[in-house]
Amino acid sequence: MNAHRPRKRFGQHFLSDPGVIDAIVRAIDPRPGDTIVEIGPGHGAITEPLAKKAGKLHCVELDRDLAAALRHRFSGSANVTVHEADALKFDFCALGDSLRIVGNLPYNISTPLLFHLIGSRDCIADMYFMLQKEVVDRMTAAPGNKTYGRLGIMLGCHLGVEALFDVGPQCFDPPPAVTSAVVRLAPLGCDRPAIDDEKLLGRLVATAFSQRRKTVRNALKSLLDETELRSLGVDPGKRPESLTIPDYVSLANYVSRRDGDSG
Ligand code: SAH
Repeated sequence: MNAHRPRKRFGQHFLSDPGVIDAIVRAIDPRPGDTIVEIGPGHGAITEPLAKKAGKLHCVELDRDLAAALRHRFSGSANVTVHEADALKFDFCALGDSLRIVGNLPYNISTPLLFHLIGSRDCIADMYFMLQKEVVDRMTAAPGNKTYGRLGIMLGCHLGVEALFDVGPQCFDPPPAVTSAVVRLAPLGCDRPAIDDEKLLGRLVATAFSQRRKTVRNALKSLLDETELRSLGVDPGKRPESLTIPDYVSLANYVSRRDGDSG
């Protein structure tokens, strides 16, 4: 038994349902040649089964008490290393390449963490995360969908995203207020769109969606005029949510080249 009290500020909701733990581990399907990185292992609900099957397991846990308990528990497992660290600042690529990253993430940091991991995509093979279902819906939304927006577009430029299954609050201790879902992400290969300026793309998409109910013509007026939109194959009368990811990339690449050319 442990005396650890869940810390709200660390987003601690520990998985307690053996069926869900098993389903996650089966989805990951760890192999002896794999290097797995678990973010936020907590009390080790999925750590134990991962450690048994993976070649190497790195755990990144911010909570000092939990990290110490894990270190003690896995002291006899030569393939497990516990890092007491903040995943938002962690240098994942220092652990190797073809990393498989997994975690029942603290929901309050999931978006910045996903963006941090996009920056490490060259050393990542795939990722499996438990997130708020609402966030997974945004990540997987297609154009035209109400939840399609900045998160889905920025992730979709770099990663394939697949929702696997939903998980109810009762599967955690303490139960979160929302339904969760497990998602699989994998870096896109050479078929991903070439982005000239990632920051500019982010700014353009944020600008478009800050005015979701306007037409593209009005929402992007500070960046592109109607003639430019048309020349890029975008109907200025459409709403921001009906433009595809390649549309946004081509708009951003155009602005980047235009403004770069004019100094
Ligand atoms: N994976 C465990 C615990 C989930 S709760 C389970 O499924 O039961 C989320 C975990 O992430 C907690 O252990 C919390 O301490 C840890 N955590 C919170 N913020 C973190 C951060 N910035 N970096 C690393 N771990 C963090």
